[in-house]
Amino acid sequence: MPGRIGQGFDIHPLVPGRRLILGGVEIPHGRGLEGHSDADAALHALTDALLGAIGAGDIGRHFPDADARHKDRVSSDFVRETMAKVRSLGWHVANADVTILAEEPQLAPYLDRMRDNVAELLGVAPDAANVKATRGEGLGTIGRAEGIAAQAVVLLEKS
Ligand code: MG
Repeated sequence: MPGRIGQGFDIHPLVPGRRLILGGVEIPHGRGLEGHSDADAALHALTDALLGAIGAGDIGRHFPDADARHKDRVSSDFVRETMAKVRSLGWHVANADVTILAEEPQLAPYLDRMRDNVAELLGVAPDAANVKATRGEGLGTIGRAEGIAAQAVVLLEKS
């Protein structure tokens, strides 16, 4: 039975006066990500990967910024609602891999908690949900810590 693959990418500016939430984990830092929802770039990329895998467009179509109902929304809700669509179409997640691109802060202490959140949201074992981070080595927008980006890939199998 052939599977389905989906990928997602997201980026948000790092600004003062916002909480920093990545992979559903609040990370103490002087700045946070700007956005309409909680701006969790990792869960937004994951949502887009799921939507891509089921051929359902993108996060902006399903959870538009212009809709006041999504203001300050917890991004795990986007993943949960998207997973409900995935399941209703007869698919389940085989595995997911998320990469966060951030110059600061140091994300290593938080990656296991992010992975556990992602595993729970997707309904997979922890070893089928990977969350990793890489730095920009001073290069470009990420390297100058102007923002944080995330990429995600998921594989679906027929249930
Ligand atoms: Mg986003």
